[in-house]
Amino acid sequence: MTNDSGMAPPLGDMSKEDFRRFGYELIDWISNYFENIEQLPVLSQIEPGDLKAQLPTSAPAQGEPMSNIIADVDRLIVPALTHWNHPSFFAYFATSTSAPGIFGELLAAAFDNKAMLWRTSPASTELEDVTLDWLRKMMGLDAGLTGIIYDTASVSTMHAIAAAREGVEQRIREEGMSGRSDLPLLRVYASEQAHSSVEKAIITLGLGQRALRKIPTDKEFRMDPNALANAIDEDKREGIIPFCIVATVGTTSTSSIDPVREIVRVGEQHIMWLHVDMAYAGSAAVVPELSHLVDGCDRADSIVTNPHKWLFTPFDLSVLYCRHLNLLQRAFSLVPEYLRTPEQANVRSGSDYGIQLGRRFRALKLWMIIRYFGYEGLAARIREHCRLARLFRSWIEESPDWEVMAPTPLALVCFRACPKENDELDTLNEAIMHAVNATGRALLSHTKLNDKLTLRLSIGNIRTTDRHVREVWDLLNDQLQLLRKNSSR
Ligand code: PLP
Repeated sequence: MTNDSGMAPPLGDMSKEDFRRFGYELIDWISNYFENIEQLPVLSQIEPGDLKAQLPTSAPAQGEPMSNIIADVDRLIVPALTHWNHPSFFAYFATSTSAPGIFGELLAAAFDNKAMLWRTSPASTELEDVTLDWLRKMMGLDAGLTGIIYDTASVSTMHAIAAAREGVEQRIREEGMSGRSDLPLLRVYASEQAHSSVEKAIITLGLGQRALRKIPTDKEFRMDPNALANAIDEDKREGIIPFCIVATVGTTSTSSIDPVREIVRVGEQHIMWLHVDMAYAGSAAVVPELSHLVDGCDRADSIVTNPHKWLFTPFDLSVLYCRHLNLLQRAFSLVPEYLRTPEQANVRSGSDYGIQLGRRFRALKLWMIIRYFGYEGLAARIREHCRLARLFRSWIEESPDWEVMAPTPLALVCFRACPKENDELDTLNEAIMHAVNATGRALLSHTKLNDKLTLRLSIGNIRTTDRHVREVWDLLNDQLQLLRKNSSR
C-alpha cells in the first residue's frame, strides 16, 4: 500500500514503494544540499532557543506524512545547522563527509548490526580488523599495533589510559581506587597543549585531576622532554607512580608535534605506557612526505587517530591502535552467561575491549572510503589542504597588517591582525573573527597562544579550493579595514 503523502501503515514499517520513493527523494535532497551549500550561511544564524520554540512540546500521537517531515527538515532543521560541509568552514579542525562515507552510513543503518560479539556481526568484526590493518599500513605503523574502533578520540584515549592503568598491576579492576591506603597517586603526563579529552579521561577513570601533570612546551608548542624527565623523577622521589605519558602529534591549538622519539626515551627509562594522540594528524601520515609524523610510534603503546577528522569519514569514527590488547581486554572484558558463545576463544569480540556492549558497524564506511579514493587519492586531498594552508600563510607573511603565531606543519594556520596603530590586539582580533563569522560566508575559530588571542584557519574539507581560501582572506582584510575605519572616527 502506498499513498501520496507517505503515511505509516497501521502496522509494520513503511511500504516498500514509499521507501523507494522517499529514499530517492532524500538522495536527491542530499545531492542538492551539497550542490547549493555555498548559498547557506556556514554558521547557523538562529538564536538559542529558536528551534525549540518552533517544535511541539509533545510527540505526535498519530504518524505524520513523510512528505511533511522532509519539508520540516528544510524549514526548521537546515536553518539551525552549522554547515560543517561548507567549503568555507575553517573553524576548529575543518572536516567533511564524503559520498562513499554517506553510503556506508546508509547501509550500516539498514543492517543495524550490534557488533557486540563476533556472531552478532561477523561482517563488522572482520571488516574492522581488515580495514584497520589497511589504515595501519597506510599510516606507516608497525604490525605490532592492532586497531579497534570507538566513537571519538576522547573515548579512545580513555580506553588507552584504562589499559595503561591495568598494566600498573594494582588490582584496580577488582578493588577500585577509593578507600585504599595502599595505593599511591598514579600520574599521567601530557603537555600543556594536550587536548582536554586527556583530563576528562582521567576524571572519568576516577584518577582525579591531580593525577594529570601538565608539562611545559617549547616556543613551538611542543612538549619539553627534559621537563618531562624532571617531572617524572620528582614524582618518583615523592612515591607517586608515573604510569602513562600522552604525547600529541597535531595539537588542537596549533597542530604542533611533540618530539615522540625523545619522549619514548624518557618513558622507557621508567617503563611507562606511551599513548600518542594523533586524532587530527594521523590521517596526514598517509601522505608519504609526511611519514615523519609517526616517527617514534614504533615504540608507542597506543595511538589514536580520527578518520572522522581528516579522512572524509562522516562522524563518528575514531581508531585506537594498541600494542597490548590483552591489557585492554583485562580492563574491560566481562562475559555473562547470556553472552557466552562456542567460538569465543577463537574470535575477537568488540565488547571485550570497551565499556560498550553493542557497537555500530562503523568499519563499513571507512572501508568504502578507502576503496573509493584509494590511499593515493586520500593522500592527494590531504596534500592539497596542506598546500592551501601554506598559500594562506604566505599571504599573512607578506602583509604588514597580519602576523603568523605558530609554525604550520600541516593545514592549520595560526595568525592574527597586528596593525601598527592598534594596541588592543585581542579585542581587535576577536571582533574580526566575529564579524567574519557573522557574514555567514566563512567560519573561523580562535585560541590563545602565549596569552594572545590567535585566529585559527583550518583546511580539511574535501570541497575547499583556492577560491574559498582567497575569499576568506579578502573577508578578513575587509573586516579589518572596516574596524579600522570605525575606530578612527
Ligand atoms: N585530540 C585532539 C588532538 C583533538 O584535536 C581532538 C578534537 O579536536 C580530540 C582529541 C577529541 O576528539 P573527539 O571529538 O573525537 O573526542
